[in-house]
Amino acid sequence: MAGKNNGYAARVKKAEQVLRSAIEEFHPAITLASSFSLEDVVLMHMISKIRPDARVFAIDTGRLNEETYQCADLVKFITGLKIEWVFPRFEDVQKLEQEKGLFSFRSSLDARHECCNIRKVEPLSRALKGQKAWITGLRKEQNVTREELKYVEIDEAHGGITKINPLLEWEDKDLKRYIDENKLPYSALYDRGYTSIGCAPCTRATEPGEHPRAGRWWWESAEQKECGLHVDYSKQKDVSAGAQASGK
Ligand code: SF4
Repeated sequence: MAGKNNGYAARVKKAEQVLRSAIEEFHPAITLASSFSLEDVVLMHMISKIRPDARVFAIDTGRLNEETYQCADLVKFITGLKIEWVFPRFEDVQKLEQEKGLFSFRSSLDARHECCNIRKVEPLSRALKGQKAWITGLRKEQNVTREELKYVEIDEAHGGITKINPLLEWEDKDLKRYIDENKLPYSALYDRGYTSIGCAPCTRATEPGEHPRAGRWWWESAEQKECGLHVDYSKQKDVSAGAQASGK
């Protein structure tokens, strides 16, 4: 038990150290991209203690769950952080919906990537323009495509800026414990069996024993379950741009 506690304490300390040194080095040109996941709630709390005026943005894809908005408001209130909402380009969404309908992402992998590119990838790229670094809640435990993550990486997909992953080694139970200990809010969907939360029509609850991200784009294979926010170019040889990626 003591070992487990030590492991948790060490992971919290490491995350805070990684965050602090990144913010000291890059502020004000560093930002957190928050989706109000458990990871992002933890990071927002840590950031608010280090640099309450740090930039935090969130992408409103237009298809988020109501619970995500509720969580966003609560986290904003508790941390005092200012949240900058970033939206997809209106004309792109209008064209997509008019030409292909409201659920085109279910028809093929390409169609799903098209929607993710319009609603997530392009707004992310826009939000990262001018930044020297960005902070993510990526963890090794989350996905088969995330095993080679590092605390600090160069993000070639976004102009070679630095990408900081402070929660790299965190486990699910660490997130819950940190949120509990610090009395932080979280999306009510987690209490309904969701283990990874994205857009409403592309996320479902998972069953015990399923991979935490099994509820994301559940109609696709595990290797395809990414949206292009975190491109791994080393694995991109055989796929079209943005197809092989790892992200929220
Ligand atoms: Fe579109 Fe689904 Fe991707 Fe959201 S997660 S941008 S709804 S395909």
